[in-house]
Amino acid sequence: MEHSVPLIARIALNRPLRRLFDYIVPEHLELIPGQRVQVPFGRQQATGLVVQTGVEPPPGITLKPVTAVTEEWPALPEETFRLLSWASDYYQHPLGECLFTALPPGLRRGNKAEAKKAEWWRTLDNDASLPANAHKQKALIDWLRHHTNGAPATDIIKAGFSRTQLNALREKGLIETISTPGAETDHEAPEILARHPVLSSAQALAADELTTPGEGFGASLLYGITGSGKTEIYLHYLKQHLGARDQALILVPEINLTPQTVARFEHYFGRRIVVWHSALNDGERLTTWLKVRNGEPVILVGTRSAVLLPFTNLRTIIVDEEHDSSYKQGDGFRYSGRDLAVYRAHLNNCPVILGSATPSLESIHNAKQDKYRLAKLEERAGAAAPPMVSLLDIRSRPLEGGLSRPAMNAIQQTLARGEQALVFVNRRGFAPVMMCFDCGHMVECPRCDTRLTYHRRDRAMRCHHCDYQTAATEHCPKCHSAAFKPLGQGTERTEEILTTAFPDTPVVRVDRDSTQRKGSIQSILSRVNSGKPCVLVGTQMLAKGHDFPNVTLVVVVNADGGLFSVDFRAPEQLIQTLLQVSGRAGRGTKPGKVLIQTCHSDHPLLKTLCEGKYLDIAEQLLKEREEGQFPPFRAMAIFRAEADTMEKSLQVLDSIKPLTNSTGIETWGPLPAMIARRADKYRAQLILNARNRKHLNNLLSGICQELDQRKRPPGVKWMIDVDPQETG
Ligand code: ADP
Ligand code: ZN
Ligand code: ZN
Repeated sequence: MEHSVPLIARIALNRPLRRLFDYIVPEHLELIPGQRVQVPFGRQQATGLVVQTGVEPPPGITLKPVTAVTEEWPALPEETFRLLSWASDYYQHPLGECLFTALPPGLRRGNKAEAKKAEWWRTLDNDASLPANAHKQKALIDWLRHHTNGAPATDIIKAGFSRTQLNALREKGLIETISTPGAETDHEAPEILARHPVLSSAQALAADELTTPGEGFGASLLYGITGSGKTEIYLHYLKQHLGARDQALILVPEINLTPQTVARFEHYFGRRIVVWHSALNDGERLTTWLKVRNGEPVILVGTRSAVLLPFTNLRTIIVDEEHDSSYKQGDGFRYSGRDLAVYRAHLNNCPVILGSATPSLESIHNAKQDKYRLAKLEERAGAAAPPMVSLLDIRSRPLEGGLSRPAMNAIQQTLARGEQALVFVNRRGFAPVMMCFDCGHMVECPRCDTRLTYHRRDRAMRCHHCDYQTAATEHCPKCHSAAFKPLGQGTERTEEILTTAFPDTPVVRVDRDSTQRKGSIQSILSRVNSGKPCVLVGTQMLAKGHDFPNVTLVVVVNADGGLFSVDFRAPEQLIQTLLQVSGRAGRGTKPGKVLIQTCHSDHPLLKTLCEGKYLDIAEQLLKEREEGQFPPFRAMAIFRAEADTMEKSLQVLDSIKPLTNSTGIETWGPLPAMIARRADKYRAQLILNARNRKHLNNLLSGICQELDQRKRPPGVKWMIDVDPQETG
């Protein structure tokens, strides 16, 4: 009898290896791409995902057979699988790790794809009597009688009853457990019937500009100033265009996924709303993942990684605050949630809406090139008016905790009127440059068109574009003032000064440190929403999305850090942050005011900012990007290296550099990173700047293959970052 050629399948494992593994498919198994399997790996069993079947067996290698399929159906449906394969290639990250990112943690380990069934209870028509003193048990029976279809145990316990009471009643034959009712339709809470605001005519006009599901793929950029009602437009849009069986994805930055936001969506869509964010536990993740995978008509509101979920009937995607840098994953699989959302809409032939008060220059560029449709909304909703923004020059002004006298006075007047003030300390894009607080002077590199960066450890000033360095001086080299200090200010110090100045008013600090505990941001927010006079002090976390109706004054402690950073994105991010934080002022009926402290009140960017026309500023910034040949006019990627010495990091990048030699590609570096040492690792980078994205992608793929062949020098890690958010 002729020996038949065995079928071979190519399997991805959750390993940081840029390769797949071949296994024999036993005759009784039929494998589908995206399906989970168990395979022998080394001396153990590993969970794998089928990538391809019917592969030519490699000559001369004995392969092992697949042990078993984990389930009959593919965990990753075709479209999700294609999205991840594309992302693996685009971001140069191993396919195995990309695919496994889309599985909840339990499924990565090979657990069964079954959610724990919710436990439901209902009453039985039984008149067994209860003792007269069993008040709680009687109350529970009454409560359950009001829920004719039964209720989940979690709700019963939330209503104040206990498990002991449930068990006692079951033993008496008065109640029983039932399997989860299927549709849960009657639980589409009554709030869904409540009234919704009607869109204003400006909002309706903007909404009409957006691409609709009927048109197939189309990307729209919804530019709407803070408080103009973008969220209201999303809600109306979904109501109007999303079919009853359709799935929708709403991406939001982590910090914006507050209970208030979710409540707003639930108000329109009840139980169709499900959430996805970093605080979910493994069980919650699995439950939601399965709903999405099973094609239930969910409207999922989630953060970055929600874009990788296995939707099977995705008909609309919305990316709120699309400019937000948290959409870019900062390590490992460094994808952009926003960019994948656009690609995914393309795969699904459905619309994607990118919304922001301060759109990214990338998206504005795409709109200008007619790749995206632009919808504008330039007035605030309801009675609210845009805030008045003014610059407060702090050259030669004494500062306490970073605050000048006029700023303190403004805070005091605000509190006296019974209103709230927000003090914003900008730390992102913070370049530790030395600046003279008398004349505004900053020391420049004699060889480059950049400012020197201050290094506290050895009191040196260095250029990050060449190797020039000099000792930091005590006095301003220009005017000899002693007020020559590193720019930047801590929130703690500002908080202290404010507490002393306003002893009778609560001063609330909001930053990474003060919000470590789960739920602490929630309690802070509800305190602010009570509307009583208070001063909020904080960083970026305060800038985004919040709706504080009684905040009427915003003080920006110092705007200058981002103006002179070495990072080419810094000015864009500074302006976005300033506008977003300004947008917290005057959202209610009272007018808002914004004071920006700066030593550079004549800086053109800041001057345009006061006029509040973001699109004009963006135009100006885009021109600079074009002149400097930066993204979006170029495609960029960075090789980053980390080692126990700077020499090793630079060496590995030096060995990569010759491979980047190609027409249309410029290479900068290798150079020590802006923060050259982090957690005892020395970091360096090599920047690739390409005229053509496809060409860059091909080149990077080749380089990665080549580097995987080479032996890795011990103690050095290198990684690649495509479309980097930070280039410091
Ligand atoms: P954005 O998302 O642009 O910041 P929101 O959708 O949060 O704006 O709207 C800001 C505020 O205005 C919210 O309190 C919202 O309920 C209210 N609002 C928005 N549109 C309307 C409308 N058409 N009628 C009444 N109130 C509205
Ligand atoms: Zn230099
Ligand atoms: Zn000076």
